[in-house]
Amino acid sequence: MTTERSSNKLSIMKELIREREFRKIGYFDPVLRSEGIDTFIKNQHSASSALDLPEFWPALCVVNNEDYEKAMVIIHKVRDENAEDVEKSINCPKCNEANPGNFEICWSCEESLPD
Ligand SMILES: [Zn+2]
Repeated sequence: MTTERSSNKLSIMKELIREREFRKIGYFDPVLRSEGIDTFIKNQHSASSALDLPEFWPALCVVNNEDYEKAMVIIHKVRDENAEDVEKSINCPKCNEANPGNFEICWSCEESLPD
């Protein structure tokens, strides 16, 4: 006796990011497409009552799994660029240690840091 499995392309697409808020996903979609990566958004039209369950959150997927690595690199790059202002670090002019952007004096040598 044999069992036939139907292949469902949706289920094998690799998921890049999943967010409760659709806009956080929709933001990356045109960026990836402009890089020539075919994307697919799962659960785009989930009812808001379903959003309490992470498995129903909108998810951005790659249509071709071979694009997955490239897509993740782009997503991380875009996220880093957006986070730059919050997470930028200042190198101490005296000892060259990296300090968080909101520090006013160097944690290492207590030199005052430039803005
Ligand atoms: Zn220092």
